[in-house]
Amino acid sequence: MGILAVSQGLQCLGGYGYCAEFPLEQHYRDIRIHAIHEGTTGIQALDLLGRKVVMQGGRPFLLFLGEVGATIERARATSTLAAAADELERAIGELERVTAHLTSFALRGEIELFLADATLYLELFGLVAVGWQWLEQAVVAERARAGHPTPADARFYEGKLVTFRYFFAYELPKVAGLVKRLLTSDGLTVGMASELFDA
Ligand SMILES: Cc1cc2nc3c(=O)[nH]c(=O)nc-3n(C[C@H](O)[C@H](O)[C@H](O)COP(=O)(O)OP(=O)(O)OC[C@H]3O[C@@H](n4cnc5c(N)ncnc54)[C@H](O)[C@@H]3O)c2cc1C
Repeated sequence: MGILAVSQGLQCLGGYGYCAEFPLEQHYRDIRIHAIHEGTTGIQALDLLGRKVVMQGGRPFLLFLGEVGATIERARATSTLAAAADELERAIGELERVTAHLTSFALRGEIELFLADATLYLELFGLVAVGWQWLEQAVVAERARAGHPTPADARFYEGKLVTFRYFFAYELPKVAGLVKRLLTSDGLTVGMASELFDA
């Protein structure tokens, strides 16, 4: 997501953004390393699905679901956040459904199918996790706004709430496409013969 954020910033400046006069071209090259060092995205994804989610019979995953569920309940108590709470509940339900689907391959020993789309699973998990964090921030911001903040603080909390609404309007809906692919598991990538790369 950092790569996308810097890329969008560069895009706003057009051709100038690409040139060395602006620091963004340097930031764009620098941020690219985060998907490579300290474990590439592909390896982080294999670790998340193949190790973290299934460790101790899925206990850490259940703890995560519990934390997200607690935020959803807090958000429901605030009328302006109730619809977003429902949306995040649907998204986390989809994450659970996908996790059960994929781990069923692991239980049958079909490891390639289990992990074939691990990077997409990481993306799905990331959308839900970031959505959870935005909902948590929205709960805090709504409470603070009700407490008669200074004008400067009020603007800060309003900015948080607009960004939270942006994430739920533009990013969280991407869950649907990822879920569709992750539930397919037709082996499209793992089934491809290596000779086809030479054709
Ligand atoms: C600027 C920079 C600073 C660094 N600093 C440090 C440092 O301070 N200390 C240190 O120890 N290392 C450091 N590194 C090394 C870094 O940790 C490695 O580059 C990184 O772990 C990726 O390993 P690799 O380059 O060998 O890529 P590879 O392992 O060759 O990976 C290439 C691609 O194949 C994918 N891939 C690899 N294995 C699999 C698999 N089994 N299944 C599916 N996909 C796979 C990867 O996801 C990746 O997309 C640094 C690297 C850079 C570029």
